[in-house]
Amino acid sequence: MASPADATVVWFRDDLRVSDHPALHAARAAGGPLVLLYVFDDSGRAARRLGAASRWWLHHSLTALAASLEKRGAVLTIRRGDPVEVVPAVLRDAKAGHLAFNRRYAVGERAQDEAVAAAVRQQGAEVHDYTGSLLHEPGDVLTGEGERFGVFTPFFRALTRQGEPRSPYPAPAELSGLSHPVATQTIESLGLLPTDFDWTAGLAETWVPGEKGAHQRLDDFLHHRLERYADERDLPAAEASSRLSPSLKFGEVSPYQLWHRVREADASPAVKEKFLTELGWREFDYDLLAGREHLDTENVHRTFDRFPWADPDPRLIRAWQRGRTGYPLVDAGMRQLWHTGWMHNRVRMVTASFLIKNLRIDWRIGERWFWDTLVDADPANNAAQWQWVAGSGADAAPFFRVFNPVTQATKFDPDGEYIRRWVPELRGRQGKALHEPWTSDHTLLDEGGRAYPSPIVDLKASRQAALDAFDRMRH
Ligand code: FAD
Repeated sequence: MASPADATVVWFRDDLRVSDHPALHAARAAGGPLVLLYVFDDSGRAARRLGAASRWWLHHSLTALAASLEKRGAVLTIRRGDPVEVVPAVLRDAKAGHLAFNRRYAVGERAQDEAVAAAVRQQGAEVHDYTGSLLHEPGDVLTGEGERFGVFTPFFRALTRQGEPRSPYPAPAELSGLSHPVATQTIESLGLLPTDFDWTAGLAETWVPGEKGAHQRLDDFLHHRLERYADERDLPAAEASSRLSPSLKFGEVSPYQLWHRVREADASPAVKEKFLTELGWREFDYDLLAGREHLDTENVHRTFDRFPWADPDPRLIRAWQRGRTGYPLVDAGMRQLWHTGWMHNRVRMVTASFLIKNLRIDWRIGERWFWDTLVDADPANNAAQWQWVAGSGADAAPFFRVFNPVTQATKFDPDGEYIRRWVPELRGRQGKALHEPWTSDHTLLDEGGRAYPSPIVDLKASRQAALDAFDRMRH
């Protein structure tokens, strides 16, 4: 790529790592000095503005990246503003002849990248872009008729038919910066952390953001949990999944690294396939995102535009958000989310189904809450999975599949271990008294002396109302 004397600006985005970073790898191989740049664009123009939990993660992930670069002899240059102006300006300041980045896939992000590339080329520099965050380029995996897939299984089959993903690139031992510094802001100046009230203690006690933390979680998963992943991933108390979703979202670990580490792991082939298939869902959701401008607001199946949602009652929405619906599994999940910024996949499905179907509240309201509170809030996975539960998405669950939170709890948390962990009012309870607390007449109090709520909705009647609404939509 660059001639040895030429400097390259490597633009970091959702790839906050030094290992398996194709743009960094190529820039370093070219031999010139490097400017390592992150631009915080909070305008919401190209990409959705980050939610509060994601901002917390980003602050710490940038801090970890800066430390990792410093250890290798380089500086992370931080800027805030519109990349279309900032990136070409940094190239001019650095007298750099090259810009390198790994591609992003939301429609607005792609448009922004093209505008940045055009501005950079106009000032005489070269642009080099790479595939780093997905195992495939959206648009490269197509049906026999040349269409995008609308169904997961044939998509994944077609993806895997393309062959094993390339091997990951190693982390560079050292990086050479510019001889003259480029102006930088501090990470603190980006204002990513809450200022008035610090609600982030639960996040801090649960997570170590950054590339090192991601690889520690990956090692721990491979050594202690992968073998039971297929059998136990649906059991929220078992904690059998990888918990790598926020690290994939921020690119602290690449899907190539995950793919190969799992392939090489000491576990049965069936377990490995199960895990890699889940990773395939991320690829499928990104394929969907790349083809649509408004996956987070527009139904993939436009019939759902006619769905008769109930009036969004703020009291019901608040009860759901705070984990005070009176249904223990729903409440446990929503409290886990509030406290840790993450929720188990099975419980995400149950809590989303409860909001959409039992409360008949528009999936977009739930999607926005998850967007704000999840540390892994992902433009593709969050929107696509909410639409999956609603029945309006690609390869979605049929609308009439209404998850019953009591049946789901007795099946996937039979001993109530997960529920008791997150709903302290129910700690002394077992069996029916735990799963259906309203059947017992003892008042349950939480640590603050607040009573556990009675159910905010009747499951049977609300299920029927949802099915009737679905019928009205169809006819
Ligand atoms: P693992 O089981 O260890 O899976 C490994 C990786 O595969 C995950 O990190 C993720 O990248 C991918 N993956 C796993 N399951 C899915 C899935 N169903 N769909 C797409 N990718 C998957 N995932 C997000 O990353 N961000 C979100 O914002 C998000 N919102 C969701 C909202 C709803 C309503 C639902 C039902 C699911 C959502 N998911 C989301 C998908 C899934 O719940 C999480 O990816 C998973 O729980 C993350 O935990 P893990 O890393 O331990 O997963």
